[in-house]
Amino acid sequence: MGNRLGSCVFKCGYTLYADTCIGRCIHDKYIDAFQKEFGENAVHSQLTPFAFNDLLILPIPVLTSNYAYLVADVCDNNFVLIDVGDASLIKNVLFEPDAILTTHKHWDHSGGNKAMRATFPKLKIYGGALDRVPDSTHGVYDGDVLIFGRLKFTAMWTPGHTKGHIVWRLHGDKFGTSDCLFTGDHLMLAGCGAAFEGPVKQLIRSLNLLKVLPNDTLVWPGHEVGLENLQLAAFIEPENACAVVKLVWATTQREAMLCTCPSTLGEEKKYNPFLRTNDESLWKALGIYDNVKKKTLKQDDIGSVCFECIIAKAMDMRRLRHTIEKTNESGEEGTGQQVEAESNVDARKDTTTAPDCCRPIADQATTKETAR
Ligand SMILES: [Zn+2]
Repeated sequence: MGNRLGSCVFKCGYTLYADTCIGRCIHDKYIDAFQKEFGENAVHSQLTPFAFNDLLILPIPVLTSNYAYLVADVCDNNFVLIDVGDASLIKNVLFEPDAILTTHKHWDHSGGNKAMRATFPKLKIYGGALDRVPDSTHGVYDGDVLIFGRLKFTAMWTPGHTKGHIVWRLHGDKFGTSDCLFTGDHLMLAGCGAAFEGPVKQLIRSLNLLKVLPNDTLVWPGHEVGLENLQLAAFIEPENACAVVKLVWATTQREAMLCTCPSTLGEEKKYNPFLRTNDESLWKALGIYDNVKKKTLKQDDIGSVCFECIIAKAMDMRRLRHTIEKTNESGEEGTGQQVEAESNVDARKDTTTAPDCCRPIADQATTKETAR
């Protein structure tokens, strides 16, 4: 009964946020609060451009963890933007882009579309037709191809996080480089987005669509959550050397406020637990190996059971971290040490006020635990 009520309240809240102008008000208020607290130019990561011959990709930090992306052909002067969650950092410093491509309707990915169209009234904004992305001008379907000079994108319909979520595949052959995937809230570094608008099985099917692409495909996610996700991946599988090595690297990157993208699909398959639900070592780590082998788990349910176990592990990790923090605090109080409040709090540390629907699965699990 309690669960059903909780689920009903969540669905109402989610619908109000995702599908009505109330969501825009919350998003705008969130941006105001963010800027008031951290300053107008606060960013969670340093600007780091990536060049692949004539192709330039610039992850632009937005809000507490989002990335918008600038994708440019520096030779032919074509460029597009992906997922403009907030236009304030972008609209005053750019010429008119060829287009904006949006991965999904959530405000932290689409909230800047309106301001961009106010600045550039003829701007074309593409998004999944089933998502009805705010202020979009063109709805796209699976397999639709968009071409801007040498920049060629294919829309991959990846339902689960939202009904109309699109992963944008940039074809790299014209630039002599690998393809790129702009994955929004579908696939993250070592994680994935929550299944808000579809069953987990559908989300898993959508993730499987990406697994068949070449291993050198570059993954550009919609959020900077690689460190948190890798901590969970290594917590689940401490023997997974790929997860541990990537975690050490990501820790160094984040200490310098550098972004952790891109990764490759080949890497993700080695440490991302949400892509490894067919892997025996993950089954062992999650304690379901025997059930799978004895076939007490239906083949069709293995993926979703893995997801449930991963989320349970995320809550275990959060609980453990909380206990360690409490122990450290009481130890410091006991020795009379003064804990000074940090005066230079940067945006990276504030993830507690971000709307839930823009967060990855693991992070939401930690939030629920905090609220308990
Ligand atoms: Zn989202």
